[in-house]
Amino acid sequence: MLIVPEREIAALMTREAAFDAVEQVFAAMAADKAYNFPVVREAIGHEDALYGFKGGFDRSGLTLGLKAGGYWPNNLEKRGIINHQSTVFLFDPDTGKVTAMVGGNLLTALRTAAASSVSIRHLAREDAKVLGMIGAGHQATFQLRAALEQRAFEKVIGWNLHPEMLPNLAKVAEEAGLPFEAVSLDAMREADVIVSITSSFDAILGADQVSPGTHVACMGTDTKGKMEVDPALLARATVFTDEVAQSVTIGEAQHAIAQGLIREQDIIQIGAVINGTHPGRDGADRITLFDGTGVGLQDLAVAAAVVDLAVEKGIAVEVDF
Ligand code: NAD
Repeated sequence: MLIVPEREIAALMTREAAFDAVEQVFAAMAADKAYNFPVVREAIGHEDALYGFKGGFDRSGLTLGLKAGGYWPNNLEKRGIINHQSTVFLFDPDTGKVTAMVGGNLLTALRTAAASSVSIRHLAREDAKVLGMIGAGHQATFQLRAALEQRAFEKVIGWNLHPEMLPNLAKVAEEAGLPFEAVSLDAMREADVIVSITSSFDAILGADQVSPGTHVACMGTDTKGKMEVDPALLARATVFTDEVAQSVTIGEAQHAIAQGLIREQDIIQIGAVINGTHPGRDGADRITLFDGTGVGLQDLAVAAAVVDLAVEKGIAVEVDF
C-alpha cells in the first residue's frame, strides 16, 4: 500500500491536474462508466462532529474507493488543527486490496474548485470579464484562483455576510493582477460569472440580482437545508449539476424541486456537456447555473492523480499491508 501524507499534497498536486481529473470523472459519470455510492453522514454525538463516507467506482479509470472524514467544529480552537478532516482510501478493483491512503484535506478544496472551474470552462460566455464571488472563507480562495484561469477576467467583485473576511479574496485577486471591489448583492448584476461558496441556510442571491447571460456556480450547498440562491433563479436558468441525485436532495436544486419550480428531468449532468451529448449554453442571454454538490468520485479522481504524481517523484511511502 502507498501512503501520500497530507503534508506532501501541496507540493505535488496542481490546479491543472485537479481540473483534468475532475473533468474526466464528470464525463465518465455522464457516460454511465462511473457511479457514486450513497453518502453516509452522521452526527456522531462526540465533539459535535459530523463524520461520513463518500465513495464510488470509476470503471473507465479503474478507481475504486472512498473518502472518510467530516467536520470537527472544535479542532481549531482546542487543538490548532483545521476543522475539516478527511482521508481517501483507494482499492484495487480486481482484488479489493487497499492500494493507497491519501490525505484528503487540501484535495477537497482543490477538487471543489476544479468542479466550478470545469463548469465555467464549459458553460460561461467566452467574453466573460467580471467575476463575482459570494463567500470569502477557506474554500472561496481556492474557488477564485481556479475560476480566474478559465476566462480573461478583468475585475473581481465580492460580497460576504462577514465583510471582514473579504480581504481573503482581495489578496488572491491582487496576486492575479486584478482589481477587487467589495460590492452589494445588487451589484452582482455586473458579473458575467458568479461563484457562491458559503455555509448559508437562506437565499443570499436574489433571482433578479443576476443579469441575462451570467453563469452561476453554486458550490456551498452540499447538505439538506442549505441554500445560497433564490429558488426562482433556478427557474430562470438552465440548471446543470455534477450528479442529479445529489442535486435534488442535498444540492441547491433541492428547494426549487420542492417548490415545484423546476423538474428533476430538466437538470443536466455537466458530464453530458463535456462529452458533447448536450450542447450546454444555449445563447448569449441564457443564465446557466451549476449546482456543485461534491461527489465522492471527485475525491477518488484527484487522489488517484496525486498517487501517480507521488510515485513519479519518489515521495509515496510504501508499506507492506
Ligand atoms: P468557511 O467556514 O471557511 O467559510 C464559510 C463562508 O460562509 C464564509 O464566507 C462565511 O462568511 C459564510 N457564512 C457563514 N455563515 C453564513 C450564513 N449564515 N449566511 C451566509 N454566509 C455565511 O467554510 P468553507 O470551508 O469555505 O466552506 C464553505 C461551504 O462550502 C460550506 O458550506 C461547505 O460545506 C461547502 N463545501 C462544499 C463542497 C462541495 O463539493 N460542494 C466542498 C467543500 C465545502
